[in-house]
Amino acid sequence: MAELTPMMKQYLEIKKDNPDSILFFRLGDFYEMFADDAKLASKELDLTLTSRDHGKNAKPEEERVPMCGIPYHASESYIARLIAKGYKVAICEQMEDPATAKGLVKRDIIRVVTPGTVIDAACLDDKSGNYLCGIYLDSQGGGAAFCDLSTGETHLTAFSGKDTLTHIINELGRFSPAEAILSDGAFSEKALTDVLTDKFHCRYENGGERRFRLAEAEKNIRAQFGEEAFSRLPAGEPAAAMALGGLLNYLYETQKTDLSHIRELDYYRQGRFMELDLAARRNLELTETLRSKEKKGSLLWVLDKTKTPMGGRMLRSWLERPLLSVTDIDRRSSAVAALVDDTIRREELIAGMTGLGDMERLIGRIVYGTAGGRDLTSLRAAMEKLPNLKEQLSGFSDRRLTELTAELDTLDDISGDIAAAICDEPPFSVREGGIIRDGFNEEVDRLRHILKSGKGVMAEMEAKEKEKTGIRTLKIGYNKVFGYYIEVSNAFKEQVPETYIRKQTLVNGERFITQELKDLEHEILTASERVVALEYELFSALRQQIADNAGRIQKTAAAVAECDALCSFASVAVHNNFCRPEVDESGVIEIREGRHPVVEKVLKDSLFVPNDTFMGEKEERVAIITGPNMAGKSTYMRQVALIVLMAQMGSFVPAKYAHIGVVDRIFTRIGASDDLSAGQSTFMVEMTEVSDILHQATKNSLLILDEIGRGTSTFDGMAIARAVLEYCADKKTLGAKTLFATHYHELTEMENTLPGTVNYNIAVKRRGEDIIFLRKIIPGGADRSYGIEVAKLAGLPEKVVQRAKVILKELEDENGVQYVAARKESDQVSLDAMSEGEVLDAIRRCQPDTLTPIEAMGLLYELKQKL
Ligand code: ADP
Repeated sequence: MAELTPMMKQYLEIKKDNPDSILFFRLGDFYEMFADDAKLASKELDLTLTSRDHGKNAKPEEERVPMCGIPYHASESYIARLIAKGYKVAICEQMEDPATAKGLVKRDIIRVVTPGTVIDAACLDDKSGNYLCGIYLDSQGGGAAFCDLSTGETHLTAFSGKDTLTHIINELGRFSPAEAILSDGAFSEKALTDVLTDKFHCRYENGGERRFRLAEAEKNIRAQFGEEAFSRLPAGEPAAAMALGGLLNYLYETQKTDLSHIRELDYYRQGRFMELDLAARRNLELTETLRSKEKKGSLLWVLDKTKTPMGGRMLRSWLERPLLSVTDIDRRSSAVAALVDDTIRREELIAGMTGLGDMERLIGRIVYGTAGGRDLTSLRAAMEKLPNLKEQLSGFSDRRLTELTAELDTLDDISGDIAAAICDEPPFSVREGGIIRDGFNEEVDRLRHILKSGKGVMAEMEAKEKEKTGIRTLKIGYNKVFGYYIEVSNAFKEQVPETYIRKQTLVNGERFITQELKDLEHEILTASERVVALEYELFSALRQQIADNAGRIQKTAAAVAECDALCSFASVAVHNNFCRPEVDESGVIEIREGRHPVVEKVLKDSLFVPNDTFMGEKEERVAIITGPNMAGKSTYMRQVALIVLMAQMGSFVPAKYAHIGVVDRIFTRIGASDDLSAGQSTFMVEMTEVSDILHQATKNSLLILDEIGRGTSTFDGMAIARAVLEYCADKKTLGAKTLFATHYHELTEMENTLPGTVNYNIAVKRRGEDIIFLRKIIPGGADRSYGIEVAKLAGLPEKVVQRAKVILKELEDENGVQYVAARKESDQVSLDAMSEGEVLDAIRRCQPDTLTPIEAMGLLYELKQKL
């Protein structure tokens, strides 16, 4: 093969160190890609593939290298597209000016952009974090670290024991990382890598032993987060430090820049937040719907009325991390309550935060060195809203709001500095001047004056020279050969001073230059360059000065974000008529007139029917819920789960009254799962999920089990359903609070034999051949399943409906029993019966010990009225 050109040699050297990235190689105004990178990029970005000689002499066709290129100024959108497809892009820049460089221009990688480390706003979703994660796993335990480079926010946790992997996978659900860097142990866990790919579409790579070494990890953590943060890490559990160490190493290797905005480390232990597995997150539609994977229709969609991107991210993180400590929950819900009570101040706060922008990501870009003039003016605009916010906040006496008032720094000095230095509408680019405000810097002003009035300055000089020499006809002119010159007509030849240097003789006169003229000319011709360079210098100095204050700004941004999220909870509570739940460790869940927060918003024509719930420690721990399809069973069960979750997020809840004993986890087994693509049968998936639940749940968990055993034959299914129900109900095995919806009406018998279980059904009313859904949950088992009636509602042809009735009748007659055990005399649930049910229910729930005599009287009247 022919000898390579020096540039291709340089390219290959650099490529060798970055084999797994697409290399953007800067050549003048373009980034070029070569060989396989070029083939890949041309396909992914629809670019034309060309080729180039890589040898010194003219080459036959086979020795030409494929190449393609993109203009450097349009690179952002191309990078964004490659990142979105999960690639890494290494940016290789010219490190010296090609005009002045001797020989081959020096080039180097300035940054590797990866899915977990992008900070370009075009690649990021405003209202969710973009996380890079580091995972360390060994036979003892493991750790998981998460960092959002755009804001610097960093979280870390660790586990030990046999369920480590499961816990770590559940943690991933909180952050949905875009990219993961795995230790050898983590990389070899197929369950983990499958989840990363299938559930999070997350790019991952094996970080190898080297990146996760403990000693280096500890050194880096100390340097990045400080001694105090390091001391909070658990001694004797190196997995946490190693996970974070692996993550930091990857950041240092790819970013090659100041990362001082990554300074706060949030280390949390198991037990601070409610752990939710991926199935529960999905089934409860916390941040996206099951079907369309969109925010619209999720709990987040109802709760998020935040005004700033950072508030939106904070609220989302609250949703992803419900609390377990009653004190923590109370602190948040008290703040919400205070905001609910003071409408005027709340509205003022909300107005004050509207359009405030994303201080967190702005400061990220400032520290990172990619912020432009417009970022600084946006930051200034945000800061100028702070004094008013602080003023409004200080009017509250609530503890958390008072703390936030103190944490909110109005940052007047910084906004003042920006206002003084940066003009109101700076250009997009920082390298073209026009950023610095007039009057800020004398030299900038002088150069601008020269630039603006180049002609005027020359006219001034002309007048001055005329006066000095007394030559009336003296003129200053310009041509391309000499630049500026002084022209004197022959009549005044004698008066030309000695300092004039003759340059050209004309027919009518002569042209001269002077030192002063040439100096001025130089000024005019270079003023534009110099002012641009000086403005950039001043801008960079200011950006650095702001970067040095990153800690203060981040703290304030966090306070604003929290205020925004709290206001959102409060305003949603007011507009949707939510109540503040009483939260304690009683182990009781009592909800009066509870509603499903999302379904009630979506129902347009019909009104949502509220329902009560009571689940105690001893009695009514397990509810067996029957009722026809479409009656509202799964809506009801999800509603209970969501109300509990919302209460533990510190939010108000959709109910008249709610008393929530904190649950440690919520498990769900609902409907068809989307794991079918993984090649498992519906039944297998269902059983795996049930098995995970029974292994991990504790007596303090809340279980939502919908139609267990449906995927197999009736008897198998019923047997499994019954055994699961017994296991959940029995205090010796699990004894967890459970909502158990089933088609197997036979299971309602268990109310009599299994302590702690109680039957409920969702009432329907029969009218002739049709049924009407009443959506009301009432005590007792359903009388029958009304399958044929529901099928009729769904529009099954009349012939089929009639035929099904005949077959059902035959089956019932043949077996001498009703296929579905009727528990009530009539096959119609009357509204009166419902009222009776309600009365009984109320009596069951009331606690006479806590009632005053007047309240007891009131209750009695109320009950009697219902009969
Ligand atoms: P099931 O699980 O019993 O088959 P679903 O919970 O899926 O029934 O509910 C069916 C539909 O009934 C829901 O889509 C919802 O629109 C409506 N629905 C459920 N509960 C209520 C309610 N309490 N009030 C009004 N409509 C409801």
